[in-house]
Amino acid sequence: MAENSLSRLAAEFKNFLAAQDEDEFIATAAATPAAVSVASVQPQEPAQTAVPPMPEGETLTVEFPRARAREQAAAPAPVQAPAAKETFSPQQDPVLMNTAQKTAALSELADTIKNCSRCPLGATRINAVPGEGNVDADLMFIGEGPGFDEDRQGRPFVGRAGQLLDKMIAAMGLKREQVFIANIAKCHPMTDPLHPEKHGNDRAPNAGEIACCRKYLEQQIAVICPKYIVALGGVSAKALISDAKSLGALRGRFYDLSLDSVKLPRPVKILATFHPAALLRNPGWKKDAWIDLQMVMAELGLKGASK
Ligand code: SF4
Repeated sequence: MAENSLSRLAAEFKNFLAAQDEDEFIATAAATPAAVSVASVQPQEPAQTAVPPMPEGETLTVEFPRARAREQAAAPAPVQAPAAKETFSPQQDPVLMNTAQKTAALSELADTIKNCSRCPLGATRINAVPGEGNVDADLMFIGEGPGFDEDRQGRPFVGRAGQLLDKMIAAMGLKREQVFIANIAKCHPMTDPLHPEKHGNDRAPNAGEIACCRKYLEQQIAVICPKYIVALGGVSAKALISDAKSLGALRGRFYDLSLDSVKLPRPVKILATFHPAALLRNPGWKKDAWIDLQMVMAELGLKGASK
């Protein structure tokens, strides 16, 4: 009888191990007739087995994998450490920064741009050209990309076209230091990247390069948050106004600027005009460019250069 009881107990324990789940074991055990009644159990001599005694201080741990899995599923999800925030994100509430915050943010962004190799232009540039100017400017000028001189100096609009832009800014009654000047692409697009030392090796950035670099410009605009932007040339105008029309069709009116990657703290208006390099090639267009700039001057209350 005792041997039979031990066999039943062993069978139950085997079921228990097979169940590997205390609830299932309890249910199984409840459905199984008691192996032995208490009264029927006769005192037994301790069995002489070869099982070594449990070392003092140790405990037996029984694992219930499925029960533990259930507990884990029911437990609240562990709190994840927030991912490192990008400086800007579309979800962030836009705020107007103070001058110190803008300076720090633009400096950090410039460092990122100088180390960027998101597009092939990063491999052939001499210097990245993040942009420069007054971080609190009401007016931004945005061209298409650095050229030969800009690549060498790491500054925007410093060649012949830049000298003309300085004159245009002065004619509006402003100094270069009062505005912010940047480009859509921050590195020099070349027609012949194998010979960066060549003059006349400039080209407009292509759609892929503009797309790669766009977020840097958008972050600059969001930080500076000027009241007005003048897009210099068709490439810049089409990209910023998000309209494929010709420059001639885009000129003559203000557009509400809308950015892809960041929210603006306040509305920004944009106007398209000719690139200074185009005005150097076609001086007859200067009169129309001046009409465009006068539209901005009227909005900003600028009287123009004193005669
Ligand atoms: S052009 Fe813009 S995206 Fe391309 S490498 Fe330069 S900074 Fe980076």
